[in-house]
Amino acid sequence: MAKKDLDWANIGFGYRTTEFRYVANYKDGQWQDGFLTEDANVTVNECAGILQYCQEVFEGLKAYTTKDGHIVTFRPDLNATRMMDSALRLEMPPFPAERFLEAIDEVVKANADWVPPYGSGATLYIRPYMFASSPVIGVKPAQEYQFRVFVTPVGPYFKGGAKPLTLCVSDFDRAAPNGTGHVKAGLNYAMSLHANVTAHANGYDENVFLDPATRTYVEETGGANFIFIDKEGNLVTPKSESILPSITRRSLLYVAEHYLGMKVTERPVRLDELENFAECGLCGTAAVISPVGKIVDHGKDICFPSGMDAMGPVTQKLYDTLTGIQMGTIEAPEGWIRKIM
Ligand SMILES: *Cc1c(COP(=O)(O)O)cnc(C)c1O
Repeated sequence: MAKKDLDWANIGFGYRTTEFRYVANYKDGQWQDGFLTEDANVTVNECAGILQYCQEVFEGLKAYTTKDGHIVTFRPDLNATRMMDSALRLEMPPFPAERFLEAIDEVVKANADWVPPYGSGATLYIRPYMFASSPVIGVKPAQEYQFRVFVTPVGPYFKGGAKPLTLCVSDFDRAAPNGTGHVKAGLNYAMSLHANVTAHANGYDENVFLDPATRTYVEETGGANFIFIDKEGNLVTPKSESILPSITRRSLLYVAEHYLGMKVTERPVRLDELENFAECGLCGTAAVISPVGKIVDHGKDICFPSGMDAMGPVTQKLYDTLTGIQMGTIEAPEGWIRKIM
């Protein structure tokens, strides 16, 4: 076994098949023992619940090689519990958190040759997911489910530095009040694709989704939460029941308060106050933070003072601190890093 001979800095962000993935089945009212398999394909009945009524939830996290050569994951316990919450909302049997953590360790270990080296900027993306595998034709929860974890190496999110994004305020809604916006389910992405393609066709990088009830407050984009830095250098982030609770965002809030001494406020953020902020960023596992330079609201440009050339200075500090914690160059809070090998 030896590290794969890949040009890590240039592997991009696509799916690449690795050797092993983890599978566990739920039937007869319980989760069976899991196992590793080399078969990357899934076979299900034509009437499986996932195919007919989209009963599926997923997670996304990464494994990193630290400076001292260990392979670690970042706060995977939060992915485990979030996936249990998502499953319950979709009437699926939660996969136990402890088994979730062990499954990830097993898959990452088995595919250790695919974990990009320290300093390459690349990481191993981990995708746990579960879906209804037994036939359902009358609308109801399925009887059987499958939990799987695969991994795929991904390149540095920002090649040649982080270019600030231009977003547009979408006319489409992402999440209904009292709906499923707060759970990580494929269905939230299926319905956002049209809004995404439309935004791209109009020359924008991403959508800003507003609260559907009043279209007054900022929620999030299709796959990342917002953070704003005000003119005093403090962090403000939208509060809403229909935002997906990003682990990156929760971590950045902690870092801002406890490492950088910033004031952190979680509150509803009005669209018409965005022009008062100094910096804006999108946060999620994939990019950690993507800087936003401009938001276009139906012909009106909201330009952040940090500009279109680089990340704002406070955003950069947050980014450097959190990625330093993930890569082992800055001491992590207790329990944030899980050493796999
Ligand atoms: C996964 C996801 C995020 C980011 O969450 P992280 O835990 O930070 O990766 C944000 N918004 C949506 C809609 C998501 O699905």
